[in-house]
Amino acid sequence: MKEHSRVVVIGGGIVGAAVLYHLTKLGWSDVVLVERKQLTAGSTWHAAGGFHAMNSDPNVARLQAYGISVYKEVEEISGQDLGMHLTGGISIAATSERWEALRYEHARQKVIGIDSHLVGPGEIKSLCPIMDTEDVIGGLYIGNEGHLDPNGATQALAKSARKGGAEIYLNTKVEDLVHKSDGSWTVVTDKGNIHCEHVVNAAGLWAREVGRMAGVHVPIVPMEHHYLITGDIDEITEFDGELPLILDLDGEMYLRQERNGVLLGVYEKNSTPWSVDSTPWDYGESDLLEPRMDNIESALMQGFERFPSVAEAGIRRVVNGPFTFAPDGNPLIGPVRGVQNYWSCCGVMAGFSQGSGVALALSQWMIDGEPEGDVFAMDVNRFGAFATNAYTVEKAKEFYENRFTLLCPNDEWPAARPNKVSAFHDRLQKANAVFGSSYGLEVPLWFAPKGSSPVEIPSFRRSNAHDPVGEECRAVRESVGILDGSSFAKYEIFGPDAVAYMDYLFAGRLPEIGRIRMGPLLLPSGHLKGDLTVMRRAADKFMVIGSGYLQEFHMLWFEQHVGGNKVRIVNRSDELSAIAIAGPASRDLLNRVASGDLSNESMPFMSVRPMDVGIAPCLVARLSFTGELGYEIYVSPGLRARRL
Ligand SMILES: Cc1cc2nc3c(=O)[nH]c(=O)nc-3n(C[C@H](O)[C@H](O)[C@H](O)COP(=O)(O)OP(=O)(O)OC[C@H]3O[C@@H](n4cnc5c(N)ncnc54)[C@H](O)[C@@H]3O)c2cc1C
Repeated sequence: MKEHSRVVVIGGGIVGAAVLYHLTKLGWSDVVLVERKQLTAGSTWHAAGGFHAMNSDPNVARLQAYGISVYKEVEEISGQDLGMHLTGGISIAATSERWEALRYEHARQKVIGIDSHLVGPGEIKSLCPIMDTEDVIGGLYIGNEGHLDPNGATQALAKSARKGGAEIYLNTKVEDLVHKSDGSWTVVTDKGNIHCEHVVNAAGLWAREVGRMAGVHVPIVPMEHHYLITGDIDEITEFDGELPLILDLDGEMYLRQERNGVLLGVYEKNSTPWSVDSTPWDYGESDLLEPRMDNIESALMQGFERFPSVAEAGIRRVVNGPFTFAPDGNPLIGPVRGVQNYWSCCGVMAGFSQGSGVALALSQWMIDGEPEGDVFAMDVNRFGAFATNAYTVEKAKEFYENRFTLLCPNDEWPAARPNKVSAFHDRLQKANAVFGSSYGLEVPLWFAPKGSSPVEIPSFRRSNAHDPVGEECRAVRESVGILDGSSFAKYEIFGPDAVAYMDYLFAGRLPEIGRIRMGPLLLPSGHLKGDLTVMRRAADKFMVIGSGYLQEFHMLWFEQHVGGNKVRIVNRSDELSAIAIAGPASRDLLNRVASGDLSNESMPFMSVRPMDVGIAPCLVARLSFTGELGYEIYVSPGLRARRL
């Protein structure tokens, strides 16, 4: 075993193998993978092996399409048979809303370059003769979908990585991670230590344990998942061709051909989280869970209605296995805040659709300093301290049970809410606010008319929010509106080197004392990472305002660029409340409650100063998002008010 390596990838499932391959593909050959048992010994070996190009996030969909192209590449490099069946896939719609959503999806796929077309019930029946298409309105056919052998795919990626110079140590368990003062790592295994620059947590079912070795909380939970395999079905034996991969979105099930029978998987409504605190080390390799037939019975019945001959074929095998979910079902990838050179690559719920895309993005991040595209939907830093274990279990359960639920742009899911509330929450609730959730915080979206229920009805069209929001906009244009801005991220940056640091961090010029400027954050490539509001409070003291849901993402960036500067960066987002007022009457409103001169001469656009508002010491900034006259008021809501 090597004693030194540039990278140690922990975990030899489909994801770890894909990371190892992509590091070599992008030019890093001094890399190793450590696997406690054999390759595929976690969730990977018992997966159904289906892969899809469809994803609601276009950036993730692009990466999925790339990932599918990698299978052919590694088959050629390694000579390993992947058991690839490029059958094409059809997502079917049995309701008019779903049909509309598929048509929308089709249009989107055209834009991002995924080759798909809409098919009617007749064509679906000819491609999949075992389906009852009586109530099917249509489907979306994607040629670049199918299924493969999970073991073959993992081995092919691993062999291709070896050809690129990587080494793989099987039956070697990582037992601890020791962070050195220079940022490098000692990976302690039961076969000896490896010193490395970077560690990648691709430990799948055990990612939480490997996180804990470095003091990192990984917000994932394994969920039990069933599929069954049938005996032979005459219609399939006689069929000239292979069935496509079918996603029955309204029936919440998927189906593919397995020999002359089928594999039918279901996402049941009464889902079961598994091993919610930690995954036993003695699980894996060839273990499966006891099937819970009672739990999946009604989902199966729906499957049998859609595919009647499946019910008659006889069940040859039922598989119940665990795989991990983050609260929103997306992977958790990227550098982890506070632990230099520790990379997350876990929570990959659809390893065969996403493994190589995720691995490409992570490898680019490690090697080039940033991934090629926008992967925020998968960034581990989209979660913060609010994503506790209990939160994760509730959200993962909700996601699993709604895996194929038709989602509208204005959907707000209810699980694990309220988590955090602002100081104004009760008043907003009394005023009939409709709330959404952002970074765990309840945020008011709009106000329902008095007497009506404060609920937004999900829709692809104009929702019931349309008219009330119209009135709110008119009020801001013609008089004044008030917004709870507590969800804004608020950072204080100060210290002897604050100016040098801020000047390096932000691409724009820094404001004078008492003034405000926009501060663009740029990536090494020149792409925009963020555009924040920079307020200068004193010669060496700044307050920076950004989007609340990007707190961890921005804090990581701020901390990564401190260098030798003597500077303190404090995230005050949870401590400070904010109210934004905007509209032509906002100055009059503020004049009624604030001390001091608010005239244009005394307090021009983009200026900031401390001011008492009512009896509270506040920081008042003159700016607004609306284009109208406006102010943002920052205040510490604690009992002992702090002067900002
Ligand atoms: C029933 C079922 C059906 C599925 N069907 C599909 C499907 O059709 N399509 C699809 O895309 N996905 C499917 N999945 C999901 C898929 O299995 C996962 O997305 C994928 O396997 C995750 O891979 P991974 O590499 O992240 O994790 P894992 O497969 O869990 O791999 C982690 C590896 O890390 C190793 N490891 C952990 N800790 C250590 C340590 N300390 N030291 C050394 N090694 C360590 C483990 O031994 C293991 O081999 C299915 C899952 C289930 C349960």
